Amino acid sequence: MKRIEIQEHTCDICVVGGGLAGCMAAIRAAQLNTNVILVDKSHPERSGCAATGLDHVWGYFPEVQGREGVSLEEMVEDHIQNVAHGLVHKKMLHYIAATSLDRILDLERFGAKIRFEDSTLPGKLRLQYQMHACRNTLHFEGRDVKRILSKAVRNQGARILDRVMVMELLVEDGEIAGAVGYGTRDGKIHRIRAKAVVMATGRANRLYKPYPGLTFAIRMPPALTGDGKAAMFRAGVELINMEFLSIPGRWSSKNLIRGGGLPTGSYQPPGTGVNALGEVIRRRNHDIGGKTVYGTAKTFATGKSFQGELEAGRGPIYADMSWGSEEDQKYMLWAIENEGLGPGLLHLMDSYGLDFRKHKIELWPIEPEHSAAAAGGPIVDDICQTTLPGLYAAGDEAGGIPGSVAPGAFTMGYLAAESATKRTDQIKAIPVGKGEEQVVAFCNDILSRSDGDPWEEAQATIHNIMTDYNVHVRSETMANRGLESLDYLAGTMHLTAANPHELTHCLEMRNLIDCGKIIFRSTIERKESRGKIFQRKDYPEQDDANWFCFLGQKMEKDVAVFQKHSP
Ligand SMILES: Cc1cc2nc3c(=O)[nH]c(=O)nc-3n(C[C@H](O)[C@H](O)[C@H](O)COP(=O)(O)OP(=O)(O)OC[C@H]3O[C@@H](n4cnc5c(N)ncnc54)[C@H](O)[C@@H]3O)c2cc1C
Repeated sequence: MKRIEIQEHTCDICVVGGGLAGCMAAIRAAQLNTNVILVDKSHPERSGCAATGLDHVWGYFPEVQGREGVSLEEMVEDHIQNVAHGLVHKKMLHYIAATSLDRILDLERFGAKIRFEDSTLPGKLRLQYQMHACRNTLHFEGRDVKRILSKAVRNQGARILDRVMVMELLVEDGEIAGAVGYGTRDGKIHRIRAKAVVMATGRANRLYKPYPGLTFAIRMPPALTGDGKAAMFRAGVELINMEFLSIPGRWSSKNLIRGGGLPTGSYQPPGTGVNALGEVIRRRNHDIGGKTVYGTAKTFATGKSFQGELEAGRGPIYADMSWGSEEDQKYMLWAIENEGLGPGLLHLMDSYGLDFRKHKIELWPIEPEHSAAAAGGPIVDDICQTTLPGLYAAGDEAGGIPGSVAPGAFTMGYLAAESATKRTDQIKAIPVGKGEEQVVAFCNDILSRSDGDPWEEAQATIHNIMTDYNVHVRSETMANRGLESLDYLAGTMHLTAANPHELTHCLEMRNLIDCGKIIFRSTIERKESRGKIFQRKDYPEQDDANWFCFLGQKMEKDVAVFQKHSP
């Protein structure tokens, strides 16, 4: 029988995940002369949510918002109330808002273009309204942001270990000792011993059935399968917010590529959302704005929703981007070229002869996501430390900061590296650690089988279980049935893999099942409904007295235990 080979690496800090947070963490750690390895499941040049670009980043720009009469504190308060529904790690959010501009200036030093001659704002910045009630969203040329960052990682002297999917954490005497990954191309187990680990593997996607019916036709990067969250949970780290789904209401193109935020958002000045009668349901960017943070600003919303229009018989819903001047159109195309999946959208439209000037784009709701608005992940303190000493988390990996998105990744990555470096300065020897036994056994088991179930069948079953029992109707009995079903699947699937690529997918199934079980358990525990982000049929009321909290879940002696934390 073929046995898996194990290769060992050592460093002071192991950064897991080479997305925006992981790259920034590796750069900062290397700047501080720390011996760092950045491990990525794909390649940091084009990986994670920002693989194909970013068109905007929010932050506090004192010369602009200050002049418009909005203070940093007001902007943070706006985020707390309107983006995070009050449930947010306030100190971390404040840190993100206050230091986002510093990290944007780092990006500029690394080579990103952020200033434009046509801007009349201080610093020649292009700032727009997006998810806050003040103009604080910088438009920039972010199409190659991952290339720029990964080049900076290399220039700074950090090592990159690409195509290694981290599966488990190494632990010694109750403290972090490194990480264990599977080589998605070389098929080896990589044991990376380290004095500190920064987790930055992003969101948990591929849990829910995609609307187009194809596993990889989702808005989020399909390679992000909650690996970090599952590994941390198995190592006893406490996770919070895992019961929340992304806030519903996001729609994307129905038949084209399912990227960015059509029809309105920061990047389409002329973009409106209209019903089949041509009535405007989402306003265009030109028509919004206003000064204050507390409600007088005119927003995209018209009081009508796409879903409501569909149900009222006035569907389909379209993005109508034909409004506006030539200049508006030019600006929009520039912005879309830089936004995640935007270049793909433009390419497809071009090949089908579609033109924003003449054609409306049909929209459809995106599949449920366990993403940034949910902010499920390890609870972190004010320096990104998780509940396992020496283990830090940053960006979309971390729990408790909904809507932090790219600025959260840049700033927390930077902070986590500084915190991790302080720890490594105090530890003399790199620990040995334990933690690879189960994943090695799982891989060897699959490799020893000549016949069995392909990973695609497990994936389809997970999609069904999670969608049926966690989306359509959420209640204690439904969640218990979901848990039972995932347990049954885990106990009966006999996966096979013909090559490292297929074995990687098998390992993803293990993580998706673990993430699903965490979600069901937390769903059972949160006995209330909370606005758009969480509804229980058996507890329809919001219950602030008992549930205005982060719900923590961790494993103790193979039993899941819960704890509440005030935000
Ligand atoms: C289409 C789209 C457009 C967006 N546009 C914007 C925007 O314009 N502005 C904005 O502010 N936000 C935007 N966002 C959100 C933003 O991109 C994310 O919030 C941000 O990238 C999070 O950074 P991160 O480093 O935490 O995770 P990611 O950037 O997603 O990176 C995660 C990394 O972890 C790696 N990884 C995963 N699992 C493993 C594993 N097991 N082992 C090793 N490595 C692993 C992945 O390969 C990836 O490199 C967008 C998101 C999407 C999906």
